[in-house]
Amino acid sequence: MAAHQEKKLAEERKHQNMQNGTKVSQGQWGRAWEVDWFSLASILFLLMFAPLIVYYFIMSCAQYQCSLTDPLLDLLTGNKHLSDIWNRTPMLTYRAAGIYSLWVTFQVVLYMCIPDFCHKFLPGYVGGVQEGAVTPAGVVNKYEINGLQAWIITHVLWFANASFLHFFSPTIIFDNWIPLLWCANILGYAVSTFAMIKGYFFPTNAKDCKFTGNFFYDYMMGIEFNPRIGKWFDFKLFFNGRPGIVAWTLINLSFAAKQQELYGEVTNSMILVNVLQGIYVLDFFWNEAWYLKTIDICHDHFGWYLGWGDCVWLPYLYTLQGLYLVYHPVQLCTAHAMGVLMLGLLGYYIFRVTNHQKDLFRRTNGNCRIWGKRPEHIECSYTSVDGTKYYSKLMTSGFWGWARHFNYTGDLMGSLAYCLACGFQHILPYFYIIYMTILLTHRCIRDEHRCSSKYGKDWKRYTAAVPYRLLPGIF
Ligand code: NDP
Repeated sequence: MAAHQEKKLAEERKHQNMQNGTKVSQGQWGRAWEVDWFSLASILFLLMFAPLIVYYFIMSCAQYQCSLTDPLLDLLTGNKHLSDIWNRTPMLTYRAAGIYSLWVTFQVVLYMCIPDFCHKFLPGYVGGVQEGAVTPAGVVNKYEINGLQAWIITHVLWFANASFLHFFSPTIIFDNWIPLLWCANILGYAVSTFAMIKGYFFPTNAKDCKFTGNFFYDYMMGIEFNPRIGKWFDFKLFFNGRPGIVAWTLINLSFAAKQQELYGEVTNSMILVNVLQGIYVLDFFWNEAWYLKTIDICHDHFGWYLGWGDCVWLPYLYTLQGLYLVYHPVQLCTAHAMGVLMLGLLGYYIFRVTNHQKDLFRRTNGNCRIWGKRPEHIECSYTSVDGTKYYSKLMTSGFWGWARHFNYTGDLMGSLAYCLACGFQHILPYFYIIYMTILLTHRCIRDEHRCSSKYGKDWKRYTAAVPYRLLPGIF
């Protein structure tokens, strides 16, 4: 019976595809097949300079009290040579290598060996085995969603150690910050290189691989769509969602512990940064199943951009505010602190509600209520590489009727709040909002380009109905 129905469905899809008259190639979906000179130049720039940028920021804090200009001035005026700065930089140590190896191994064990139990007792939480989106080759991957429990176990152990076990100091991360940076780089490069070799020689799904013929582009943007080892070790979900993001809140806690050690108190700005970023991280894990449907997992291939970015860029640059506050403890007046808290919470609210509206809409196929009404939408269709035609819907109600990426706007408001918590003395903590604005604007344009190729004229109808990207009436 089931086999008969499947055959009928396949025939219907074939028929629909014939009716459609066009066979859309994989090139119109997912990342580029061909590399234009601008993309290549950007990629070469990032491959060469992104590791230096991270080093520069962290070194500026360690050697120049978080001033971004003083190291440059020192170098330009001949006051210091590069070798002087480098000689004062801590090298890789056995201790850091041990801590880092233990950390990553522990996260692998939590990811691979403990099936999710949180969904059994937390109402509303979606965990356990979940399905991802359809890949360009028409594959639907299964994922073990157990990030929340990995985060909880890790943090319970952290607090148990800080409160009564005392195996190590809670300042351990701050105290080894630069040696750990070398470890993170080694892992970032190793995993990206392995992913590239794997893509060529033993891909998990050959039909979901993309080769541009340009080594640097393939290395950066990735070849394989969903590289895996065995049935369950998914590179994208693990590296995106575990060592870096679980560490984010621990890194902030370690910075707070360092403030306490150095100054005998934790400032309200440090608490704000810990709380607001903690909400963001916890939100990520609470909604990990939703995350399977975001661009990172649904559309990006796994290369250096994700591999190195998750290991190095995220834990080192997303935590700059906490690091800055160790060097510059800022005690905010009540009005400033309240303003930051309100902005952060409002940003988070918009971010969460917008994402939730789309998720609800997609999960129920539009059979839901958004702001008390049945959501309006635009019917659209696309074709996967095997020629199967699929149907989808683009919602035009709720925040999705205000702008095409209002979730990014909420994210940006939250990001600005973390920066404002650091006062106005230095530019360094504001790097995050500058970076997020560039990232999310670029991501918005990249996503729209992809959606336009995927949905064609249907996408045009959608952009006519919702004309703005991030800010209604402005952009
Ligand atoms: P979205 O969640 O906005 O997903 C975009 C996709 O949603 C599109 O490709 C399209 O996919 C679908 N879609 C677009 N418009 C509609 C609509 N009107 N109705 C229904 N579906 C629609 O983007 P991201 O995955 O980039 O972001 C998810 C969240 O993660 C955001 O809130 C973002 O701020 C955050 N983020 C945070 C980052 C950080 O570093 N802190 C980095 C990146 C993201 P389809 O092909 O299925 O139609």
